[in-house]
This record gives sequence, C-alpha cells and structure tokens, in this order.
Amino acid sequence: MTQPDVGRIDGLTYPRGVAYMAGQFLPMSEARISVLDWGLLHSDVTYDTVHVWDGKFFRLDLHIERFRRSLAKLRLVVTHSDDALRDILVECVRRSGLRHAYVEMLCTRGVSPTFSRDPRDAINQFVAFAVPYGSVANAQQLREGLHLHLIDTVRRIPPESVDPQIKNYHWLDLVTAQFQGFDAGAETVVIKDIDGNVAEGPGFNIFAVKAGALHTPERGVLHGITRRTVIDIAGRQGIAVHTGALGEDTLRDADEIFITSTAGGVMPVTRLNGEPVRDGAPGAITRSIYRTYWEWHDDPAYTLTVEYAG
Ligand code: PLP
Repeated sequence: MTQPDVGRIDGLTYPRGVAYMAGQFLPMSEARISVLDWGLLHSDVTYDTVHVWDGKFFRLDLHIERFRRSLAKLRLVVTHSDDALRDILVECVRRSGLRHAYVEMLCTRGVSPTFSRDPRDAINQFVAFAVPYGSVANAQQLREGLHLHLIDTVRRIPPESVDPQIKNYHWLDLVTAQFQGFDAGAETVVIKDIDGNVAEGPGFNIFAVKAGALHTPERGVLHGITRRTVIDIAGRQGIAVHTGALGEDTLRDADEIFITSTAGGVMPVTRLNGEPVRDGAPGAITRSIYRTYWEWHDDPAYTLTVEYAG
C-alpha cells in the first residue's frame, strides 16, 4: 500500500492515516462502519486511545489493559491476543509513517444480520487506526495556559448509569457544556457530577494544586492513563495527591490548575470562568510535572519504539 495522504472519498475529506478492520490495513478514508452498527445507533462501543510521540508509543500496555477491562464489562469480544493487538496498532503507525500519532482501538457491538433488537445477535467489530496527533491545547495554550469554564448547568452522566471506567462515547453532556463554554468565551470546559463536585472535561481529567498538594476527582470520572502518570510522577517527586471529591471552592481557590489527557499530556489552566488563576501564568508544580511527563516519553520503561520502513 502506498503512503496515504489526506483522503477524499464521496466528497468528504479524511486525515492522513491508516486503519485496520476486518483483517485488512486501509487508508483512513476507506475505513467505514455500517450505519446499522449498534456502535452508531446505540453508542454501544468502547475504545481506548494511546499516543505515539517521536516514534514511540507511551504506556501502551496500560491502554491495552484498560481496553480489555472495558470490553469485559460490556461483554464485547476481540479475539486478538494482547500481543496481536499491539502488533496491529504498531503496524497502523508504521504504515502511516506518522512520528506523532493519535492511535485508537475500538470495538463496536456490530451489526445484527437480521436487525434484531437482541445485542447478542450482533457481530462485534474491532477497528484500530492511527491519525496525526491532536491535542486539547494548542502550542500557545500549552505555553500560556487554557481558559477553562466550570459549567454548572450540565452534569456528568452518573457512574450508576454509565460506568466511566468503560471508556465510552457518551459525550452529549460534555459537548453540550462545550458549546456553553464557547458562548461564554472559554476555550474548554469542565463539568460537575450529580452531587455538584467537579468531574471532568471533554477528553480530560482535572487537577487542582493547593498548598503544594494535588487534588483530583476519583468517582464518576474516567481514570485516565495521563492522570495515573501524573500520580506516579507526584509519588517520585514527593508531592502529596488527594483523590476524592473535588469541590468547586477548592478549584476556585487553587494555586494552580491543570488538565490531563493522552491528547495533549499535562496542560496548564490559567483562567477559570474569566478570572486568572493566581498570577495567571502556569505554576511551578504544573511545569515540573509537565517536564517529567515528557521526559518519560524517552524512557524505555514507558515506551515502545516503532520501527518505520526505510
Ligand atoms: N476523561 C474522559 C471523559 C476522556 O474521554 C479521557 C480521554 O479520552 C480522559 C478523561 C483522559 O484519559 P487519558 O489520560 O487516558 O487520555
């Protein structure tokens, strides 16, 4: 297969990249699922996203473990072994030639051949793909910090309804809040849980720094791999971490705020609902954790190097 560029098919433009589905590697523009797939019709799908930075996967083993846990909880079956799964993801990246990539593995409930209403009749479909790396924060926002809005009117789907540890596309709460945040002039948003505590944002976890310690929500949010990496880094640096309910007051009174995601890493927040966080510049603890996070991207203990052709 030749290196795909931006693909155009049926009048639509797709990012450069390579997908794997139904046993084949394809240009991103040719990877399609049926409109009858339960993944589309009922959001009956789980996924995981890992990134490749400078030709290396970061903590791929943890992402595959989380994907397996999500699959088991939803009773979805991916027949590939963990090694085969890893090889497919590596091959997507290798064929794409991308040195910085956003790599997704997903499994939909699939299509039921008779359009039956019984999920057990659907044939589960595994898809993987690698596309150019994308970040929640752009280069300027990474340097200067994001302008975040805490939204009060839309609450995160409670864990009693959808288990947030099953990484999912139930994002209508997050997207609704995002539009409200844009209307208010913010760059991104964080929403609260049903109890009124701070939860998470569209694709990221949140940390408040107060008196030298980190505070991050525990319940009702995805336990992000970046969140876990920050907790690991804090442990190495002797920084205390409190995981538990994060009240609005703690966030508003924070010395520093940052958000974490595979899509962007550790990202400073320097304005909250229009007000500067302290002096309005990324704080010292955020910067120190940011530095170590990216240093770990060169550490073989956390990375897997892609062998590109040529
Ligand atoms: N919370 C939600 C809702 C997410 O979708 C994501 C990532 O997509 C995260 C948090 C951050 O998780 P990770 O650090 O594993 O990317």
